[in-house]
Amino acid sequence: GDALVCYCRAGFEPELAAELGERAATSGYAGYARTERGSGYVEFVTDDARALSRALPFAQLIFARQKLLRFADLRDLDPQDRIAPILAALDSSGMPRMFGELRVEHPESDAAKPLAALARSFGNALRPALRKAGWLTAQDDRGRPRLHVVFLAGDHAMLASAHPSDSSQWPLGIPRLRMHPSAPSRSALKLEEALLTLLDDGEREALLRDNMQAADLGAAPGGWTWVLMRNGMKVTSVDNGPLQQALLDSGRVDHLRADGFSWQPKRRLDWMVCDMVEQPRRVAERMATWIREDWCRQTIFNLKLPMKKRWDETRLCLELFEREAGRPMTIRARQLYHDREEITVFATPEA
Ligand code: SAM
Repeated sequence: GDALVCYCRAGFEPELAAELGERAATSGYAGYARTERGSGYVEFVTDDARALSRALPFAQLIFARQKLLRFADLRDLDPQDRIAPILAALDSSGMPRMFGELRVEHPESDAAKPLAALARSFGNALRPALRKAGWLTAQDDRGRPRLHVVFLAGDHAMLASAHPSDSSQWPLGIPRLRMHPSAPSRSALKLEEALLTLLDDGEREALLRDNMQAADLGAAPGGWTWVLMRNGMKVTSVDNGPLQQALLDSGRVDHLRADGFSWQPKRRLDWMVCDMVEQPRRVAERMATWIREDWCRQTIFNLKLPMKKRWDETRLCLELFEREAGRPMTIRARQLYHDREEITVFATPEA
């Protein structure tokens, strides 16, 4: 039946289930989350999944990598012909024609990863059949809903739709970023992904400019500093640990061996980023001070979540951040693909 289906990092199903449950309740929807630990996805079952989906925009979800509206759950599929039952399910679905793109995929779990090859080859077979039956546009069309076929097993697939403007554009909700050979650490991918997913094209254009001034708190060995520098910025990198020598040689980076919780800039910076490994409440509070005191125009910071009740801690930290900052802000938070036990937050005061 109908349900909201969201992907997440395997192991974070309880967080996503708690987030969906709480947000559904706040929006006035009764329902329940169904999930299995390690499965990489959560179903949220409610009377009107479509309305709930509208009430929970993808951009506001923290633990969801992707948001789909499931309209069919096909079990006992015959490996000899999976196409006919899919076309039949579409015909009886009442879904509007046509879809602008097809994604055949699987949750990012240990159990489902072996389905990747099937998903690829089946996608190549299904695509022309959908076009012939009038379910798929001849060319990809980002103005129309996308059809997702989600394999949970060789004989079990869900059919779901997602609108490009209210979902992740990447397969499985995972941006494929390659580690640059000169990046000082894999953490660089985290900030790259954050800039890609938490900002839109226009914001990236406006907010990442040559000669902007930035601070990086907890910078060593320098992955985030490197990303800022590659975007043309001048960076003050605060950390007692060593920075990669090439960064220091660039002439665009100042290394300060100082405490990231007490250092403050002499004048307002464009950016402050922070990846300090510390209690998330302590980080949230310090980040709030930066916003309240107007020490930076915008920030991206990580909140480490090594504790058990990670959804509770997330909500608490974001509430604390907002309250202590004491001014209206745009806040976007997400557990990125490159985030492990942590989330990444973008915040900027509203003009
Ligand atoms: N973002 C970095 C990168 O891309 O290479 C990695 C940062 S690493 C996860 C965390 C860093 O926070 C460590 O280098 C640690 O020294 C630093 N750190 C922890 N507490 C700090 C503090 N109070 N002041 C400054 N740095 C701190």
